[in-house]
Amino acid sequence: MASNNSENKMEKIVSLCKRRGFVFPSSEIYNGFPAVYDYGSYGVELANNIKIAWWKSMTQYRQDVVGLDSAIFMSPKIWEASGHVKGFSDPLTECRKCHSRLRLDSLLEEAGVFADEKMSEEEINEIFNQNKDKIKCPNCGAQDFTPGKSFNLLVKSNLGNFTGDWSKEPAYLRGETCQGIYVNYKNVLDSARVKIPFGIAQIGKAFRNEITARQFIFRTREFEQMEMQYFIKPDTQEKYYNEWKEARWKFYLDLGIKEENLKWHKHENLVFYAKEAYDIEYNFPFGFKELEGIHARGNYDLNQHSKFSGKDLTYLDPSDNSRFLPNIVETSAGVGRTFLAVLSDAYCEEGEGENFRVVLKISAKLAPVKIAVFPLLKNKPELVAKAKEVFDVLKFDWKCEFDDNGNIGKRYRRQDEIGTPYCLTVDFESLENNDVTLRDRDSMKQERIKIDDLAEYFKKNI
Ligand code: ATP
Repeated sequence: MASNNSENKMEKIVSLCKRRGFVFPSSEIYNGFPAVYDYGSYGVELANNIKIAWWKSMTQYRQDVVGLDSAIFMSPKIWEASGHVKGFSDPLTECRKCHSRLRLDSLLEEAGVFADEKMSEEEINEIFNQNKDKIKCPNCGAQDFTPGKSFNLLVKSNLGNFTGDWSKEPAYLRGETCQGIYVNYKNVLDSARVKIPFGIAQIGKAFRNEITARQFIFRTREFEQMEMQYFIKPDTQEKYYNEWKEARWKFYLDLGIKEENLKWHKHENLVFYAKEAYDIEYNFPFGFKELEGIHARGNYDLNQHSKFSGKDLTYLDPSDNSRFLPNIVETSAGVGRTFLAVLSDAYCEEGEGENFRVVLKISAKLAPVKIAVFPLLKNKPELVAKAKEVFDVLKFDWKCEFDDNGNIGKRYRRQDEIGTPYCLTVDFESLENNDVTLRDRDSMKQERIKIDDLAEYFKKNI
């Protein structure tokens, strides 16, 4: 039975991801490793396509943003300067019955009580005490919890801290990619031909000791971020903040995400240095949750790094010889969350009985495979050879898949499930007329098209 909004949509997506090689639980043959996931053959294609779309939108379609790839390991001083060593924490509680460790702010939120990860330990415990009767352990249902304690999210390593002025401090796996951008801001300024306003974009792994990591790839302990920091003159913050809000909203529409599944969430409880903060939320199967944060951060970051490093990070504006510490507008998105949003948005069940199908209506630009090529029959060498010929022509421009296994209907279903927008079938007529049947994923319409016209057709449609 087709049902697009059933409450078990999440289970269906997780199962499709495993079955069709999008996402696997980490270390599965060793009984798994919590809150870490691996991307399979179609998953890595989709994730790469998301990253390419983001990278192009930042560094290719505009002239004022340049790329960076900074290392995961950095001086521990950076995490002190950024405030992560002291303040990057979530409030943790433990269920006294089943000993599950849980995030107190999430428990309160689920019980309909406003709480924020940025509240102090005392503040959140006070709210917790006032609302104890409303809160149940999601695992065992008990209502007996330890008081909330701040739990630092930075992941420590034992990387060779033998000598140097950080010998007593641990090296961390970075908790966010943007610190690598702040500390390279001067290098970029001195080497790339950029002038304020300009941005630095980076895609890379980040690591957090997340307490509760449920909800599949939505919250993981190792994940990828796509972050852009835009350096501006202090009095221009409002203008650029609004421009970036608009640009980032449009990015998701360009990925093919339905606008009704997106909404803005304004942060009421701003950290002291922030001027403005909004999240773009997506309507995941478990409700509207953060997809990306867009923050006006003032000059906090450069100011901190300037203080802790002792280096002058001010900017001399050649247009009027003024000197200032740039302000920053940040856009920060997760690859995994975008991946899950794209799948949730695209997942459809259609038809009944024999005609039932699961189809991922992913935009052609993101689809892991763009074109599938089939010989009608696999035991007819002349059809197989012709289909291979078609495949060999198209493969240089588009990710194609060759499939000669099973009846055509089954092959269509397999491609529908992974979101392939076009299937081409080579039959006996093809040998005579040098054409193929082109089948469209969404409309399921079929038309004959000359092999010589395929490249033109796909250039237009993909
Ligand atoms: P949340 O409130 O959901 O914990 P956050 O506000 O801590 O998220 P940021 O620090 O602003 O998130 O990180 C920017 C982006 O990085 C998020 O919008 C999200 O897309 C992604 N992200 C953050 N933490 C995780 C995680 N544990 N797993 C997957 N993606 C993450």
